[in-house]
Parts: sequence; structure tokens; C-alpha cells
Amino acid sequence: MLKELLNKDEFSKDDIISLLEINDRNEVQSIYQKADEIRKKYCGNEVYLRGIIEFSNYCEQDCIYCGLRRSNLSLDRYRMSKNEIIETAKSIFRLGIQTIVLQSGEDYLYTGEIIADIISSIKSTINVAITLSLGERNYEDYALWKDVGADRYLLKHETANAKLYSVYHFNQSLKDRVDHLLYLKSIGYQIGSGNIIGLPQQTIKDIAEDIILCKGLDLDMASFSPFIASPETPYRSQKNADINFTLKVMAIARIVLKNVHIPATTAISSLDKYGREKGLQVGANVIMPNFTPNPYRDKYSIYPNKNSDNDNPLYFPNSITNLIAATGRKIGIGYGNSLKIPRKSI
Ligand code: SAH
Repeated sequence: MLKELLNKDEFSKDDIISLLEINDRNEVQSIYQKADEIRKKYCGNEVYLRGIIEFSNYCEQDCIYCGLRRSNLSLDRYRMSKNEIIETAKSIFRLGIQTIVLQSGEDYLYTGEIIADIISSIKSTINVAITLSLGERNYEDYALWKDVGADRYLLKHETANAKLYSVYHFNQSLKDRVDHLLYLKSIGYQIGSGNIIGLPQQTIKDIAEDIILCKGLDLDMASFSPFIASPETPYRSQKNADINFTLKVMAIARIVLKNVHIPATTAISSLDKYGREKGLQVGANVIMPNFTPNPYRDKYSIYPNKNSDNDNPLYFPNSITNLIAATGRKIGIGYGNSLKIPRKSI
């Protein structure tokens, strides 16, 4: 019965809910195995690295779960200069990593032009793909950044339940989030999105909807990462996501979505020391090490215990190489573009 379900090509919402409800140890192992097979078939054995630079922790938004929310007045805020960002990008490239992820809170002091200037400077200095993860910005800026060389945009939908979306985000709507993703895709960005698992009030049905939304958006990257209670937020006393449930969601997402990049997230390694290794074994094929330099590194405190030593540039690349080798895999060389390129629509 489970075997038939796992071998399906297309999955209904009920199929996904049935899979998510499985708790029998052997059956969960079968789900993991299937996810690993599908990962191997569609992504091979390469694990692609994306070097993240968190260049500003200022944020206009007030997402209820996030330590960067603007109501958090106790956070020491910082902004990196253009020069600091470019130097950090160069040091990532020197390690052989060919994707730079520029991430920040929603910080409009970096205007469209300023971000465009940073993108073109990086692109003219080193041979990398650039992913932007700057929250919801205006459509003209997205187009400008694409024109000067940005390749990908990461904007998580966080939850596909519109009601819950409004509980977690003040003055923001799921519809806008999805519209932004569709626009980004229409102008040629590779798009990444995904959810947070284990948020207060979220149900298994909501998680199934998250996976279905990711399918509908035809994402290039889909991230399924655990909720971690952040001290300076209204959710400080809520329970963290369960590691095993998180792994099960990742595995089921791989089985349903197939040819998409799925990261073993930083959040999963904050929840479990071996979270990334475990993630790589249940469908993940991407790791996003954090290269935000000191003294800023600890201040990008979305949630606690975020910075794993594996990402520490002092130990890198041995730590990550060992981690990847321990799972019988190898580091992917090159940009690690979408598995869906060339896209039919472009
Ligand atoms: N401002 C950008 C980047 C946000 S931070 C944007 O809006 O896209 C990157 C991600 O951190 C968010 O998309 C969210 O999914 C995640 N995040 C924030 N707080 C979290 C928490 N407490 N636990 C787990 N993930 C969290």
C-alpha cells in the first residue's frame, strides 16, 4: 500500500497528508529511501554550495516569528558597506563556491540603484551566480537587478494558509507574496520559495498545502525548514519544530517535487548537530553556508543558535567537505543552476 503510494507520479493533497501522517519507523525509513532514490535520479551525487552574505539586519517588516522584526528594539542593527560585501563575495569565490546569496531584512536604505551597483560590481569581478533574498521589493527594482545580472530570487512563502499568513505577518498577504514570486519568474529569475515547519497553529493539512503550492509555482529551489523559537519575539515560548517531522516533510517534498533543488537548511543544523547530514540523506542536495563576517555574524539573529562552526570560514572548506563526504557525496562544481533549465517558457 505504501509502496504504491510512493511510486506515484502525481500526488493529491490526500496522498500527501497520508504520507505526512505516517509514523511507523519502518514506513518512515521507506519514505526516506524513496526520497534518496529520487534525489539521486534527478540531482545526482553533487551537493551544491551557496555562500550567504547577510548584509543588513535592518527590517521594515514585523514577522511574528523572526528575531529581525522591527519591534525587536534590543537588536544591535548593522549594515555592511558595498566594499565589505564585495570583499566577502570574493573570499567565497576563492573557496570555489560559485553562488553568492545576498540576504537582508527589508531594508530600503539600500535603494534599487545601490543594490544594482553591488550586483554589477560582483558580476564584473568574479564568475558567480547571484541569488537575492531581500524580501518584497518593488517590481521595477526586480527588473533592474535582473538587467544588471541577478540570476535567482529567494522569497519563502512561509505558509500556504492565507489565514495563518495574516496571523504571522502584519500588513502582508500571501497573495502578494505569491504574486511577487510569479512576477520574478516571469522576468527570468530562477525562483526559490518554501515554508517554515512547526509554526504555532499550523496543521499537517497546511504542510501538504505548502508542498502543493511549491509544485504549482514550479520552483527551481524549495526550502522546508524548521521553526525555531526566537527570544525577542512574541513566539519566544513556543515549541521548536521536531527534527524527525522536519526530515519527513523534506523527504515527502522531494518525492512529490522531484527535479528541484532542496537545501539542508541552516535552521535544521541549529535544531540538530547532524541536521545537515540527515537532510542530505532524505532528499536535500544543497547547503547554504553562512559567510557573514564578524562583527556582524551574530547579529543576524533570526533565531538562536544559528551559526554552525561548519560554516566558520576559519574551518571551511574542510568541515563542509567532510560533512559531504561522510554522506558519500561530492561538492558540485559550477553555478548549480536550476534543474529545470532550459525552461520551456523562456
Ligand atoms: N527579508 C527576507 C529574508 C528573510 S530571513 C525575506 O523576507 O525573504 C530568511 C528566512 O528566515 C525567512 O524567509 C524565514 O523563513 C526564516 N525565519 C525567520 N524566523 C524564523 C524562525 N524563528 N524559525 C525558522 N525560520 C525563520
